[in-house]
Amino acid sequence: MFTVNAYAATSATEPLVRTTLERRDAGPRDVLIEIKYAGICHSDIHCVRGDWGPVPYPLAPGHEIAGVVTQVGSEVTKYAVGDRVGVGCMVNSCRTCDSCLKGEEQYCLNGMTMTYGSVDKDGTLTQGGYSTHIVVDEDFVVRVPDSVALDEAAPLLCAGITTYSPLHRWGAGPGKKVAIVGLGGLGHMGVKFAHALGAEVTVLSQSLKKTDDGLRLGADHYYATSDPATFEELAGTFDLIVNTVSAKLDLDAYLSLLAVGGTMVNVGAPREPLSLSVFSLLSRGRSYAGSSIGGIRETQEMLDFCGEHGIGAEIEVIPVDKVNEAYERVLSSDVRYRFVIDIATLA
Ligand code: NAP
Ligand code: ZN
Repeated sequence: MFTVNAYAATSATEPLVRTTLERRDAGPRDVLIEIKYAGICHSDIHCVRGDWGPVPYPLAPGHEIAGVVTQVGSEVTKYAVGDRVGVGCMVNSCRTCDSCLKGEEQYCLNGMTMTYGSVDKDGTLTQGGYSTHIVVDEDFVVRVPDSVALDEAAPLLCAGITTYSPLHRWGAGPGKKVAIVGLGGLGHMGVKFAHALGAEVTVLSQSLKKTDDGLRLGADHYYATSDPATFEELAGTFDLIVNTVSAKLDLDAYLSLLAVGGTMVNVGAPREPLSLSVFSLLSRGRSYAGSSIGGIRETQEMLDFCGEHGIGAEIEVIPVDKVNEAYERVLSSDVRYRFVIDIATLA
């Protein structure tokens, strides 16, 4: 074991604080990563504040990790010291169930090991990326393309893959009308990917405040959902809607925007249950679906896509002591468009 500096929650209600954590020594198949940047995902906030149920404290969140390999175990074949790498929401899975064999470790039937708040292979609690180093099995490490800066790469490990995966699976591309609901961390990546895939992209945001940004990021249209006229004008329009909103929404209103046979995919994970009228689906053969991050293979594919298309996240880099302030800004939809912690400020 060795000790690392970290920034962690000690309860659901108190601010995160500087602390230290123990990490396991790198085993034969492990990679030791010096973390350079960690993105702040809204899931970190849901999780440490107990929105999704009780969690163990102290807990260092962070599952958008970008850094450099500083040590590899004797059996590691994919990575070498000095490689630029990332770690997302998972650090292990059973590797034998149908989902794992298909490369969808996020749907591991025996439960994947989350980057923080899970039981690790040595029996200790996993701790996330708001820390200076992490030890991860090489199979759950991905490579950051040379053309993507590490700070802009960090958010790709969750916000990136969580939007890339459903856009890909539900066929966003030329001739498809795609709406992204919520222009936050996930939403802004959704706009970039849907645009790069060739779809006609519409942002549905609470207000028109971020219109210029939305259009610059690749949207063709931008509407305010606070204006009831939006729902009249866009009724029956979209082939695909990706809902990234972290709070409860009137699903029926959004489903009414789908064309015949269209699909709305929920990636937002609010603490409150969402409900809908089945007639919103039946009347036009519409589907309502969910999607969770993406598998390791798909995460690498997404990163390579970013490398080829010059895509990174739009970020605001902050020192670690600004994390609590950043949380409040995320909660008030005042994020443009991902906070990324400069981990050098934890050293
Ligand atoms: P975020 O940066 O806070 O973005 C969420 C956006 O939703 C906000 O910027 C805002 O956009 C909109 N919004 C917030 N409150 C709203 C309200 N009351 N009504 C309508 N719109 C509202 O959060 P994020 O990091 O992108 O995460 C979004 C959600 O996805 C969270 O619930 C998170 O836990 C979840 N998530 C899921 C997965 C998965 O695998 N499925 C992975 C990562 C995150 P506008 O200002 O443009 O309206
Ligand atoms: Zn996340």
